[in-house]
Amino acid sequence: MAQNLPTLGDTAREDLSPLMERKLGEQIMQNVRRDPDYVDDGPVSEYLNKLGGNLLEKRPDARGEAAYDFQFFAVRDPVLNAFAFPGGFIGFHTGLLLAAQSESELASVMGHEIGHVSQRHIARMIGSQKQDVLIPLAALVLAVLAARSSPDAAMALVMGGQGLTLQRQINFTRESEREADRVGFQILRDAGYDTAGMVTFFGRLQYASRNYTDSGLSFLRSHPLTSERMADIQGRIQEQRYKQHIDGLDFYLMQARVRVLQDSTTQGLMDAKIFFETQIKTAQEEGVLSAEYGLAFVAYKQHDFDQALKLLNQLIKKVQQSSAQKKWLTQTSAFASLAIDINIANKQTDAAITLAETALQDLPLARGIVVQYAEALITANRSEDAGIFLRDQVSLYRHEAALQNLLAKSYEAQGKTALQHIALAEAYAIDGALPAALQQLEIARRDPDVQFYDLSVIDAREREWQEQHREELLSEKKKK
Ligand SMILES: [Zn+2]
Repeated sequence: MAQNLPTLGDTAREDLSPLMERKLGEQIMQNVRRDPDYVDDGPVSEYLNKLGGNLLEKRPDARGEAAYDFQFFAVRDPVLNAFAFPGGFIGFHTGLLLAAQSESELASVMGHEIGHVSQRHIARMIGSQKQDVLIPLAALVLAVLAARSSPDAAMALVMGGQGLTLQRQINFTRESEREADRVGFQILRDAGYDTAGMVTFFGRLQYASRNYTDSGLSFLRSHPLTSERMADIQGRIQEQRYKQHIDGLDFYLMQARVRVLQDSTTQGLMDAKIFFETQIKTAQEEGVLSAEYGLAFVAYKQHDFDQALKLLNQLIKKVQQSSAQKKWLTQTSAFASLAIDINIANKQTDAAITLAETALQDLPLARGIVVQYAEALITANRSEDAGIFLRDQVSLYRHEAALQNLLAKSYEAQGKTALQHIALAEAYAIDGALPAALQQLEIARRDPDVQFYDLSVIDAREREWQEQHREELLSEKKKK
């Protein structure tokens, strides 16, 4: 490694501890996941996390001294922006995902946000505040997110006298920006991306931001782009040889999905269809294939399942025949995910199960396929198999409420009502809703189906959550 990333000076000691930072980030994330604008889509989320993983793999020190497990996600919003929460959570607006003209461009924003996290800019910004104000702080960050679409929410905050704090949360200093750029640049270069993507994309963002005269928080408002900053990046690019990065089909497939997911209204789907029909006329192979994928996805969203399956099968055949693209059939979950969805919707559950089993062999870490497989098993009245599969999964992935909800569904189908309520309790607890979790435990305890072993599980969980809830109430009280 040529250069180590800069480490923090003495001021860092007064920061929010990495543990508190992560806790705060998780709290914010729990709320984001419940937001209807959170893009809960397997292939998109897998793509973003794979790209982020590739960037971090080449520079493990970019994880920062706290060595966070980064999580990348998308939020439905046409405004060009990306943001980082405390603790390694990085969100991308769908508008920004669509505006990127290459993977290098997207990676440049990702690298920049990783830079903010690894240099603990957010922790440093809020470090001067006492730790017992963390919960209102989480609420504040959320309010800022909500303010994207509702100017009233932003107003209320300013009137509440918290406007200043708000500014401090959101606007990074010029120094921080340059530091994030530097880290981002190193990450980009070491992971083999075209570093010129940073200049072209930031430049395009700057151009686009001229059209946003409203109070929307665009990328450039939260990450002020000065001519100084641009010159800095350009200087670094000139120091190294030009390196072209060839984008994989997965980048284009992700964009096709995002275009449909960004606006799934009747009009939005019609607009997406027109967009894809135009895109098909482009000469480049990836562009054509992803547009065909987009059309199949639109047909699925329009509930025209026969047409969707026909388009998808035609596309898969075409990809199979392309020696350059064939590998993507097993390297991204995009094809399998759509095929499974269509088959479930078409009540072809056996076909859906077979597709999911094959996909899980190719991509054992595809979280979206795991959920689809369990759903297909439950739909096919194989809830006992679903239960066995899910119990394994919940022990591997303890923070996924969706798995616990599916497990509850599989127990319900088996008539195991006590276990159903215990699984629901776990799902609530993961989402941070402890009173609701405790209530589900009570229902489970009084269930005639409850077994002796279940009761000891209920008791243990109850003690743990009551304690946790007491602590939360205590810190709420303190801040008043
Ligand atoms: Zn920034």
